[in-house]
Amino acid sequence: MDRVDCVVIGAGVVGLAVARKLAQAGREVIVLEEAEAIGTITSSRNSEVIHAGIYYRAGSWMARMCVSGKHALYRYCGERGIPHKNCGKLIVATSAKETEKLQSIKAHAEANGVLDMQLLTGEAARALEPALACDAALLSPSTGIIDSHAYMLSLRGEAEAAGAAFAFHTPLIRAKASGDVIEIDAGGEAPMTLQCGLLVNAAGLSATTVARHIDGMPIDRIPPAYLAKGNYFSCNARAPFSHLIYPVPEPGGLGVHLTLDMAGQARFGPDVEWIETINYEVDPSRAERFYPAIRKYWPTLPDGALIPSYSGIRPKIVPPAVATQDFLMQGPRDHGVEGLINLFGIESPGLTSSLAIADHVAELANV
Ligand SMILES: Cc1cc2nc3c(=O)[nH]c(=O)nc-3n(C[C@H](O)[C@H](O)[C@H](O)COP(=O)(O)OP(=O)(O)OC[C@H]3O[C@@H](n4cnc5c(N)ncnc54)[C@H](O)[C@@H]3O)c2cc1C
Repeated sequence: MDRVDCVVIGAGVVGLAVARKLAQAGREVIVLEEAEAIGTITSSRNSEVIHAGIYYRAGSWMARMCVSGKHALYRYCGERGIPHKNCGKLIVATSAKETEKLQSIKAHAEANGVLDMQLLTGEAARALEPALACDAALLSPSTGIIDSHAYMLSLRGEAEAAGAAFAFHTPLIRAKASGDVIEIDAGGEAPMTLQCGLLVNAAGLSATTVARHIDGMPIDRIPPAYLAKGNYFSCNARAPFSHLIYPVPEPGGLGVHLTLDMAGQARFGPDVEWIETINYEVDPSRAERFYPAIRKYWPTLPDGALIPSYSGIRPKIVPPAVATQDFLMQGPRDHGVEGLINLFGIESPGLTSSLAIADHVAELANV
């Protein structure tokens, strides 16, 4: 039976960042990916926003990894010429009550180490974005956007340059942990059995299923799994904005916001739709809720401008009634299985945090 040092399950943005980190630290790495290519699941179904780290609970993994990951990601993209834009974002208040909230959002961001937020009057916000309707706004200068596929290609290239190997069409079927060895059965076109000393479960939406198929992993350490779909609508009119535009958040969500891709194309969403089974269809009727929400800050959005676009699914580990979750990153000390690291609940800001998550995995693995 072949023996390798480290196996990473999943070639999404997180598995890629982990594989690169381990390979560059001199470890022998093989990445098993069930799909035909890198980044085909949640890593290609998101907003491609480099988040600042404003809203996450102070002290949470999300808060810390978003802020450190953001700095690392800007540096990484800058040094390698990966397309990205530090375009900034405006959180816009469209009522007196919302204007009051901006101050507390700023204070929360500062507690998370986001120290550059600026309160703007409606007039100052319109100097930046003339088409915007708002009473006041909060500018987040460190928010940006990234070409996530160019980023993932770069991570893969650097992982391979450091010796990592990739096996596509190769799902982990089951594994068995005994002592300091984990034995893996992989299926697909060329089924194989492998032994490794370190197994990193970066299977995204399937991370809990993968964990349940590891003989020796205590079942009571595996969180429940829920699916929260986020639907996007694109816009057939030119959106006259150069910043990302977010309403003041409401309980349960960030509100219908506008993000831009690297080509300047606007998209609205994602909203939140709890689902039982994975499906990526976008129900056109959901646009009815988007129009009034968007017109609060962009009153001239034309009728019929919103087109169903795509969706992504958040790998939730808490049920709808629980407002927030955190990344759950488990090493041997958490579950007692030597050589196993599980990454659960890596929803937004997982793209922004990917380099920081990889650093943390290396620490958990004593690399
Ligand atoms: C709607 C939405 C919007 C988002 N917007 C942003 C944003 O703007 N900014 C941001 O920072 N983050 C954002 N995120 C979060 C970000 O997209 C994710 O955190 C990130 O993509 C997760 O990457 P991953 O590698 O963990 O998972 P994935 O990309 O899902 O990769 C997991 C991989 O594991 C593979 N796999 C699964 N099971 C197996 C198996 N048994 N064997 C082998 N391989 C397997 C899958 O095929 C897949 O390729 C958003 C997420 C959603 C849903």
